[in-house]
Amino acid sequence: MTKRIFKSICLVSMSIFLLGAAIFMGILYEYFTDLQTEQLRTQTSLAAQGVAKIGKAYLQNLDADKCRISWISQSGDVLFDSASDESKMENHLEREEIKEALKNGEGESSRYSSTLMERSLYCARLLPDGSVLRLSISQNTLLTLCLGMLQPLCVVFAAALILSLIFASKLAKKIVKPLNELDLDNPLENEEYEELSPLLRRIDAQQRQICMQRDELFRKQKEFETVVSGIPVGIVLLNRGGVILSCNKAAASVMGADSAAGKNILSICRRPEINEAIESSLKGSFCEKIAEINGARYKFSANPVTIDGTVSGIVLLITDITEKEHAEQLRREFTANVSHELKTPLQTISGSAELIMNGIVKAGDIKEFANGIYSESRRMINLIDDIIKLSHLDEGAYDMKREDTDLYSLACETVKSLSLEAQKAGVSTELTGESAVINGIPRLLSGIIYNLCDNAIKYNKTGGNVTVSVKDSGNSATLTVSDTGIGIPPEERERVFERFYRVDKSRSKEIGGTGLGLSIVKHAAMLHNASVKIDGEPGKGTTFTVVFPKSGKAAF
Ligand code: ADP
Repeated sequence: MTKRIFKSICLVSMSIFLLGAAIFMGILYEYFTDLQTEQLRTQTSLAAQGVAKIGKAYLQNLDADKCRISWISQSGDVLFDSASDESKMENHLEREEIKEALKNGEGESSRYSSTLMERSLYCARLLPDGSVLRLSISQNTLLTLCLGMLQPLCVVFAAALILSLIFASKLAKKIVKPLNELDLDNPLENEEYEELSPLLRRIDAQQRQICMQRDELFRKQKEFETVVSGIPVGIVLLNRGGVILSCNKAAASVMGADSAAGKNILSICRRPEINEAIESSLKGSFCEKIAEINGARYKFSANPVTIDGTVSGIVLLITDITEKEHAEQLRREFTANVSHELKTPLQTISGSAELIMNGIVKAGDIKEFANGIYSESRRMINLIDDIIKLSHLDEGAYDMKREDTDLYSLACETVKSLSLEAQKAGVSTELTGESAVINGIPRLLSGIIYNLCDNAIKYNKTGGNVTVSVKDSGNSATLTVSDTGIGIPPEERERVFERFYRVDKSRSKEIGGTGLGLSIVKHAAMLHNASVKIDGEPGKGTTFTVVFPKSGKAAF
């Protein structure tokens, strides 16, 4: 812009200079021509008076250096000429000034030389005898004048050019400076050029609009990020080239990259499954692949994003399916175990009933068979009861109310209710400790104590004993059930809490165990935020210690 202003100023100033010079020269030339014509007129008048009085002698004695004097007869013949031989001169009757003088008494004209370098001014006057006296002077034409002035003109032009360059440069900078210093952040505060006000007002309005739109976009982006970052499923937006455009926290942690945006997904998570999902999605179809990363199993679901029929990007969802697969596995195992557990007693029942039905069983043995059917049925009922209890616990036992419960009282009742079994097994029972009140679900607490005491009796030796102790430690209550039985090998202690897991399968079945007792204990303890620990020595006995925190509510 500075350059354009500079050029324009230079061009305008030089044009004005040249035009001014030309006009000035023209005016000057006209002025001097008028002056010369006036002088010529005076001189012609004076000379005419002289010739009228004295005749040709007047002309012969006249010193006429700078002008040419001609005397022309009425017939146009040249009677005298100060510059040429009059006898050789042509008739002048047709000359404009002569014709005019003969007609009006005075005549004037001017003629250019053949080269246009000179101009002759003529002034003629009619004498009383009818002849005409003509004076003429030569004058430089405007062109000659210009050529003669060329050198000084060039010098002045050069000086003017230099001056105009300097001023144009300064002026251009001065004009542009306020434009460069415009405060576009606060357009309305600029007051330098009034002409810019409409533009600045428009900029201000547009700026405010842009600010509003930017704030709105920012707010929406924040909202989106907050929503997306809170989603436990990994969400990755990819362009056609597999470059990550956006990715939430869950996805970043799976891929092990904090700032994944802008990188190619395969450069930070090089898995063939992801590559396959992306490639298939780029062809326009939804694709799901499962990959194992750092011991966890993830499902990668690639959805193509289509705009006008062409795939422009991919939305990749990453779901952690480790838990789900584990749960499915447990469910499958559980179903298989339940079927297996139910099959054996049902086969026994069906076999016994078939024998009785076919009359193969003697009348005296029917009682024994009925007893077998009854005990197998009881085993199935116990099993189904335990399954119902477990599934109830799995669902969180929300329908059961919590209340302040004294563990010692519950233990006392339980020990009493099991005294007959203990007696049958030849095991003595003992309850020690103190009252310890916790906020819990009495039925579940009672179930914990019952299962632990029942096991302590079942897996004991004849003559052994079971000690139940309850202790209040202020912040927690501790229940300990120890026996002098067969004990649990250390490597089995983790697994005994699994559903249907038994250390000694045949013994458990023989004594009517379902393999679900300790699972129920573990789940009921979890609902009370309690921890369960197993100690003891194989062959010498087992001690179960359950610690109930008093303050903590259920974790579920
Ligand atoms: P079950 O109905 O078979 O008793 P549990 O879940 O109650 O099932 O116990 C799982 C297994 O743990 C039992 O089969 C048994 O082998 C072992 N076990 C449980 N309690 C004791 C204990 N006090 N002493 C020795 N082994 C035990």
